[in-house]
Amino acid sequence: MWSFPVQLAVLEASGGGKKPSERPHKVCPVCGRPFAWRKKWERDWESVVYCSERCRRTGVKK
Ligand SMILES: [Zn+2]
Repeated sequence: MWSFPVQLAVLEASGGGKKPSERPHKVCPVCGRPFAWRKKWERDWESVVYCSERCRRTGVKK
């Protein structure tokens, strides 16, 4: 009888309530274009700064 609200809570926790279109975005500091989270960055999204290898090599001159 009490299992229903528990299952609902588990579903919300695992899904995060986010749709695929609401994946995180960042703006590339080199070309200024927004880019979205990609599967290949799932391990190090926090450290991703540039949208592409080309922009990463170009970098930003401070
Ligand atoms: Zn870029």
